[in-house]
Amino acid sequence: MFGRVPKKSDNTKFYEVLGVPKSASQDELKKAYKKAAIKNHPDKGGDPEKFKELAHAYEVLSDPEKREIYDQYGEDALKEGMGGGGSSHNPFDIFESFFGGGAFGGGGSSRGRRQKRGEDVVHALKVSLEELYNGTTKKLSLSRNAICSKCKGKGSKSGASSRCYGCQGTGMKITTRQIGLGMIQQMQHVCPECRGSGEMISDRDRCPQCKGNKVTQEKKVLEVHIEKGMRDGQKITFEGQADEAPDTITGDIVFVLEQKKHPKFDRKFGDDLYVDHNLSLTEALCGFQFALTHLDGRQLLIKSNPGQVVKPGQYKAINDEGMPHHQRPFMKGKLVIQFHVIFPESGVFSPEQCRKIESVLPMRPSKHLTDMELDDCEETTLHDVSAEEVKRRKEQRQHRHREAYDEDDDDDESAPRVQCAQQ
Ligand SMILES: [Zn+2]
Ligand SMILES: [Zn+2]
Repeated sequence: MFGRVPKKSDNTKFYEVLGVPKSASQDELKKAYKKAAIKNHPDKGGDPEKFKELAHAYEVLSDPEKREIYDQYGEDALKEGMGGGGSSHNPFDIFESFFGGGAFGGGGSSRGRRQKRGEDVVHALKVSLEELYNGTTKKLSLSRNAICSKCKGKGSKSGASSRCYGCQGTGMKITTRQIGLGMIQQMQHVCPECRGSGEMISDRDRCPQCKGNKVTQEKKVLEVHIEKGMRDGQKITFEGQADEAPDTITGDIVFVLEQKKHPKFDRKFGDDLYVDHNLSLTEALCGFQFALTHLDGRQLLIKSNPGQVVKPGQYKAINDEGMPHHQRPFMKGKLVIQFHVIFPESGVFSPEQCRKIESVLPMRPSKHLTDMELDDCEETTLHDVSAEEVKRRKEQRQHRHREAYDEDDDDDESAPRVQCAQQ
């Protein structure tokens, strides 16, 4: 991996900086870094060099790959591996990844301004399955804050601003109150006079366009390209298009696709499309053909071959008629059809017709009972039980069972006994 193996030395310094043993776990490293970074933060009067050292040590040791290189070959090996850079991150970024921006009231600190990152704006974007199948472009009009073009975000005509008196330019105010004998509570809140900016613009000097707000509302039209095969939940990002603010890296506008439910097709397992189709009993036994309108309006002829029997609930698929694969739209999933067989209602066949049907259907599997066997049987009558009734009976029984669950009775919810002979 490396051209030469550096001398085996100096692989303990980072541990010493953080004050942890070489065996420290990730959790211990994190805790040690947090504690030391707060103590040594330049905003709190700490030594900037020490703060940088801490961030660098933590950056290396928190990355298992870098830690291994460091443990084996020392710091020089890392420098070579990282193209000479050594520390690739701003120590303040590492600090903020723990505590968020403005941990100590940010903005106007003595160290000078540092750019913070603006928030991303996330919108849900409803799309139909047809739109995901065919691809489309949606134009969306959004309003956002933009840096005032007249004052370039200064807020004043002259470009000058003075430090806010209320907070001495820190943007934050600290109030103290005594809550007990010798106990003082400190509270920090955003300065109400400058609303956290740390500066004041005199009334006369205010920019007439933004009235000193530094930003103005702007309408913006975004063209969102929905590519073929995109999915529900997929994100489309417009980098740096969210609200602008002074000294802030503009966040992104993110659209999250939300697929509307389709009345006919259901996308499943990646790029497969599922559709239900009802067949009459005659079609299920003797063959069928029908036209299925696809998501792009094409008519697909779906047919069975003579002699093919379709069973209730059976699935059949057509290759390459599912959803296009995103980024490879020439590849498509399967179109899977689940067939449901609609049986004729009771009483539609006369006894005569029944005999005709039976003559072509497969033989009955059950043998006829002999007269003697019949004599041994009791007469019964079958009546209909709806699915709802079965469900209700089950719930009633579970309820009773809960009331007296130690009562050990057998399962009596099976179908009524109508058969009197074993086959
Ligand atoms: Zn302005
Ligand atoms: Zn202020």
